[in-house]
Amino acid sequence: MNLKEYNGYQSYDYLTANKDYKKYELDDDLERVPPFSLDLTEEQEANLKEIFTKHPVVSLRDHGFIVPEKSEDILPYCGELHTAFHYEGIAKSGMDVMFENFMDGITIITSKNGLKWDDVIYMLGMRYADIQKQDTVFIASSYKDLQQAKQKKKVAVLPSLETANILENEVNRVDILYGLGIRCMGITYNESNTLGTGLAEKNDGGLTNFGRRVVERMNQLGMIIDISHCSDKTSIDVIELSQDPVFITHAGARALWNTPRMKPDYVLEACAEKGGVIGICAAPNTTLTKRSSEHTIESVMEHFEYIKNLVGIDHVGLGPDTFYGDHVALQNAFDDILRISDSHSGESFEDSAYVKGLENPTEAMKNMVGWLIKNDYTKSDIKKAVGWNAMKIMKSILKD
Ligand SMILES: [Zn+2]
Repeated sequence: MNLKEYNGYQSYDYLTANKDYKKYELDDDLERVPPFSLDLTEEQEANLKEIFTKHPVVSLRDHGFIVPEKSEDILPYCGELHTAFHYEGIAKSGMDVMFENFMDGITIITSKNGLKWDDVIYMLGMRYADIQKQDTVFIASSYKDLQQAKQKKKVAVLPSLETANILENEVNRVDILYGLGIRCMGITYNESNTLGTGLAEKNDGGLTNFGRRVVERMNQLGMIIDISHCSDKTSIDVIELSQDPVFITHAGARALWNTPRMKPDYVLEACAEKGGVIGICAAPNTTLTKRSSEHTIESVMEHFEYIKNLVGIDHVGLGPDTFYGDHVALQNAFDDILRISDSHSGESFEDSAYVKGLENPTEAMKNMVGWLIKNDYTKSDIKKAVGWNAMKIMKSILKD
């Protein structure tokens, strides 16, 4: 179903492992967790196939990154230049467009704390080199590129960054990043930076003067602005200031789950009023709800339904934020550096080991869309949520 080309290439096949780079045991098994089925009828399966064949499938946040098998390898692995991308898994995902941040938040090549300019530039160059050697994905830089994904039988990867920490106080770095292919950038991560307040901070000062200059520069360049990890006030400040609609690429509703990582109604509404799109996140232990103590596709889609009812079908999208391998182990390894526990604070819950039905990019988009079909959404609503809403804004921001 909307399969992409895959010629057997694995990351850095052009090099000699353990001579040119250090090879780690990777958790790349596509059947790492027990199989999940939505038990769709034949007719529902046919509808799913039709959606994936005829309409753009846009994941607002996913990762080809493969986590190492052993949790003690995670930090040393993320300090290496040669981290791997699961081309085979992405080829089977059915996605046409993937917002991919190349793991800028956990790239720790030159610094133990990450989010440094050098680290992100090294990481980008290395991933682009690897991408040049394969046939499954291509780097997209314009709306036209995104449109060509189906016909090319490849996934259009839209280079994105989770946060703008690497700008420091240099506004011209926005242009440099644009020149290096970045088309979407988050304003902050969980902690504050020179642009504004992050969602895990106790005091919310909103967007800084420098942040205002960056938003203006992103608008001038045509770079998508993402406020997924911003504080509430920073989110509102960005929405009000930006000339273009703003994306929340991966989040959920605080009304259902009261943590800083979720967005309150007024931020979701302001984002939609400005013409933005909100992608529903499925990273483990984010979009939980009171109905179940376990994180599954059901709780994720409860957030989808809530936000759709709040802002309308024209402003929702899908941003599952999945990986290959143990995502919870990755969160634990970077918990302290990235304040992940802080971002999940305010509700008590037991960690789910993985999200049932949304384990990795290979199944995430298919199962989210399958869930919408199973729950009687109309074809017209599904095609908006799965891609057209995002495509419409990207056309106006990225241009041809
Ligand atoms: Zn994120």
